[in-house]
Amino acid sequence: MNLAHKLEILGAAARYDVSCSSSGSNRQNSGGTLGNAAVGGICHSWTADGRCVSLLKVLMSNYCIYDCAYCANRASLDKERAAFTPRELADLTIDFYRRNYIEGLFLSSGVLKSPDHTSEIMMQALEILRNEYRFSGYIHVKIIPGTDSKLVDKLSSYADRVSCNIELPSSASLNRFAPQKLPEHIFAPMKYIKQGHQQYLEDGRRKRGTLSKAQTPQFAPAGQTTQMIIGASADTDLTILTLSKNLYKRFSMKRVYYSAYIPNGTHAELPPADTPVPLTREHRIYQADFLMRFYYFEPDELLDDANQSLQMDVDPKCDWALRHPEEYPIEVNTAPLERLLRIPGVGTISANRIIEARRMGGLRLEDLRKLGVVMKRAQFFLTANGKFGGILEPGHPMLRGHMVDGTGMAQLSLFNTPDVLRLANPGAELTSPSGKILLPAAASR
Ligand code: SF4
Repeated sequence: MNLAHKLEILGAAARYDVSCSSSGSNRQNSGGTLGNAAVGGICHSWTADGRCVSLLKVLMSNYCIYDCAYCANRASLDKERAAFTPRELADLTIDFYRRNYIEGLFLSSGVLKSPDHTSEIMMQALEILRNEYRFSGYIHVKIIPGTDSKLVDKLSSYADRVSCNIELPSSASLNRFAPQKLPEHIFAPMKYIKQGHQQYLEDGRRKRGTLSKAQTPQFAPAGQTTQMIIGASADTDLTILTLSKNLYKRFSMKRVYYSAYIPNGTHAELPPADTPVPLTREHRIYQADFLMRFYYFEPDELLDDANQSLQMDVDPKCDWALRHPEEYPIEVNTAPLERLLRIPGVGTISANRIIEARRMGGLRLEDLRKLGVVMKRAQFFLTANGKFGGILEPGHPMLRGHMVDGTGMAQLSLFNTPDVLRLANPGAELTSPSGKILLPAAASR
C-alpha cells in the first residue's frame, strides 16, 4: 500500500477524536532544531470536519484488537486497515511541516497486539521526530489505556500534550460498550501524568538559573486532556458534568472534550444511524463545562436529580437565572465578581471591566454596553445605581422567550415589542421592579 493511501485511511480514521488543540505550549526553536510550538494555536485548515485544523491528525494504525461498540475502527468491522511504520510517520510529518501544511502532529492509534506494543511504536516515531529531525513543533500523543507507566513517562517526555480518553461517562457504560477498557487502566495513566506534570513544573522552577528552558527535562508541558462521547450511552448530562468536574479536580485536566456520538449503525444497543445525537446537546455541555471552569458553577446547581438534562432552548446560565429570580436583579456597582458572573450577558471579561471601571465612580446603565455587557440579555437581571432597564422583571413568565439563543428552536425577536407583550398581558399594567410603568393599563385593547 502506498503512503498516500495509508494517509487517506489513517487520517479519516482519526477524525472521531476531538481531544486536541494546539494551545498550551509556547516554544521557539533553538539552534539546530526545526519548528515552533505556539500558544495561540494556528488555524490552517486540514481536516474536513473543521476540528484541530492546524495539526496532522492521524492514527499510527487503525488495526485494533479491541472491539469498542461505538468505534468505527473496532476489530469486528470489516474495513480497510493500514499502519504507518515509525519512519513513514516521522517523514510524513516533517515533509508536511516543511511545506507549511501543518504546525504539528496529533497522533493516536488503534491497539496493536497490546497497549505497550502500540505505545512503543508511537514512541519510536516521536524519537525520530525529536532526536533525529530535531523537530520542535507541537506534538499531542494519545496514551492507550493500560500502557505501562515507563512508556507513559517516555511519551510524555516527547509530547507537548498527552491524553488518555475516558470515552464513556460511567463505569457501567464502559463495561457494556468497551469491556476491554477497564476504568483503572484509564485512571492510572491520568494520575501518573498529573504527578509527572506537577513534578515538571516544580523542576522548572527549582532548576531555573542552573539549566536553560531547553535543557529542563520535559513532561507534557501543555498538560493532559481527555474526551467523552456524548449520547452513545444513556448517561445523563448530570452524570457527564459531575464526572467532568471530578476529572478537572482529581487529574488537573486542561480540557475535557465532548463529542456527540456519530452512529455507525453497526451495534444494536447504540443509537441507530437515522437518530444522530443532536449537536445542540454537545454545545450545551460545552457551555456548562465553561460555567464550571470559569463562572464558579457546580454541576448540582446546573442540574439535579429531578432535572438531569440541559435545556435545549436556552443556555445553561440563562436557565439557572430563569429558575432563580430571587437572586436578581444584581446591582453592578456593589456585587462581587462571582455574582456579576451570574448575570446573563456578562462574561468574564466584562465582569472584570465592571469591577475596574466602578472604582472610578458609579456605573450607569448606559455605561455597561461599552464595557462589553450584552444588554439585550443582561437588562432583565441587573440594576445600575438602583436603576432597572428591562421591560420584564426577573421571574416574569414571558422572560424565557427573550432568552432563547437561536441554538434551539424559538426566535428572539418575536416577543421583543410592547405590542406583543400587550397581547400576552391584555389589560394589565406592566411595571419594572423599581415601579416604572412600562405599559400603562389604558393601552390595552
Ligand atoms: S481501542 Fe480505540 S481504536 Fe480500538 S476499538 Fe476501542 S476506541 Fe476503537
